[in-house]
Amino acid sequence: MSDRYVPKRLCMGCRELKEKDALYRIVRTEDGYALDPGKRISGRAVYVCRNAECIRKAIKNKGLNRGFRTGTDPNKGRSFLEELIEQNG
Ligand SMILES: [Zn+2]
Repeated sequence: MSDRYVPKRLCMGCRELKEKDALYRIVRTEDGYALDPGKRISGRAVYVCRNAECIRKAIKNKGLNRGFRTGTDPNKGRSFLEELIEQNG
């Protein structure tokens, strides 16, 4: 009786499936990127584990740009992720 469905998403850092609660949800905005903890912003989103190591990996493999596949400025994605690392201490 323990087959409760838990939604999982792929972390763009470690590329493993994780429960959504363990991940940051990142969405595109008009002028860059935003965290979407309330899941109010619709549209394409990418996910990364809530730890600095995975965020660093995401920077290295350009996960944000790959995730959105649009003409995004790579530097914007990078600085957004670097800010996330700082918030994680
Ligand atoms: Zn991860």
